[in-house]
Amino acid sequence: MEAFQWQQARSPAEAAALVTQTTAEAMLTLQGMRSAQQAILVKAGGVDMLDLMKEDLVNPRRLVDISRLAELQGISREGDGSLRIGALTTLAQIAAHPGLRQSHVALAQAAAMAASPQIRNRATLGGNLLQRPRCWYLRSAAHHCLRKGGGHCFAFAGDHRYHAIFANHGCAIVHPSTPATALLAFHAQVELLHPEGRRRQVPLEDFFVLPEVDMHRENILAAGEILTAVWLPPQIPANRSLYLQVAEKAAFDWPLAAMAVVLDLDAGGFCREASIVLGAAAPAPWRARQAEALLAGAAINGETAEAAGEAALAGATPFALNAYKLPLLATLVRRAILAAAALPQDPRAS
Ligand SMILES: Cc1cc2nc3c(=O)[nH]c(=O)nc-3n(C[C@H](O)[C@H](O)[C@H](O)COP(=O)(O)OP(=O)(O)OC[C@H]3O[C@@H](n4cnc5c(N)ncnc54)[C@H](O)[C@@H]3O)c2cc1C
Ligand code: SF4
Repeated sequence: MEAFQWQQARSPAEAAALVTQTTAEAMLTLQGMRSAQQAILVKAGGVDMLDLMKEDLVNPRRLVDISRLAELQGISREGDGSLRIGALTTLAQIAAHPGLRQSHVALAQAAAMAASPQIRNRATLGGNLLQRPRCWYLRSAAHHCLRKGGGHCFAFAGDHRYHAIFANHGCAIVHPSTPATALLAFHAQVELLHPEGRRRQVPLEDFFVLPEVDMHRENILAAGEILTAVWLPPQIPANRSLYLQVAEKAAFDWPLAAMAVVLDLDAGGFCREASIVLGAAAPAPWRARQAEALLAGAAINGETAEAAGEAALAGATPFALNAYKLPLLATLVRRAILAAAALPQDPRAS
């Protein structure tokens, strides 16, 4: 790691004005021209940023620390029932929040399953959504791959066992954020502060970008923009939600396959609307639209849940080493639908 300056931001606006590049842009420098990096970058919890610096993948001139900004902290419910989660809220705070554990079960579960207790106490939601992917070639300074501005993807002919089974042409990363899977199922939006002072709110689905749109970044964050909060629209009290994942280790690791489901069921057990999102499957959290369509208007039972599990795989293009994800995802979808339907609903409904 090279020497760098440290600056404590006094406000989100000051941080936005200071920062010169996104971390993705800073990692795009040509191999062998590392001194060219010299960007001013933002740091929240620092879990991913320090990793990237230690691995010699970014070399910032200065880090702007936003971790002490009170206005980016905390979870609040607005008058219309929507929830605002400040970007600096930690994964541990999300996992333990009593209101979220009732109204957004899948999100609290996803936050609780990410990483390890120590990391969850440090990792912020904003930093989690913006962490760089875990592809081991991207994380190796010795491999100048397409996503870092090189001319070659090492995963296609290499070891792609943890890579994407959807939208995996060009670059086959999987999005690394566990909470993002659940947030997308709840139709979350991110709030962004531009260096010129404008604020914009973007649906999470539009915030993330696939390699076919832009190979070099995972989201549309502009240079200097600060992610200030995540918004969750009001939930219908009858909603039931669940997050499930399969991983090689019970903690301290990313999932091999994951999914979040949000079901809106009527009194007769019929599904009015289903939101089904797959994680660790694609370069962005992946909506299983065919499975959602199949459940709309249907009774939830073993047969429909199984059919939804199969439908969730529509369009998959697995590689030689990651086809094992297909049965994992189909099983997770089936189990999660049945378990969510059997859950007691949010007490606000009764
Ligand atoms: C062993 C291990 C296991 C892990 N397992 C999981 C897992 O299972 N699931 C999972 O989701 N994650 C996992 N992680 C990743 C971890 O959760 C993330 O690294 C962490 O959430 C990043 O948050 P941070 O606050 O530390 O971000 P930082 O490291 O401070 O920042 C991350 C990136 O976001 C940018 N940034 C941060 N905040 C803002 C903001 N508000 N506005 C604009 N830019 C910002 C930074 O510039 C940087 O590029 C794991 C990490 C480790 C080390
Ligand atoms: S999958 Fe993407 S990040 Fe990984 S080596 Fe290929 S281009 Fe690079």
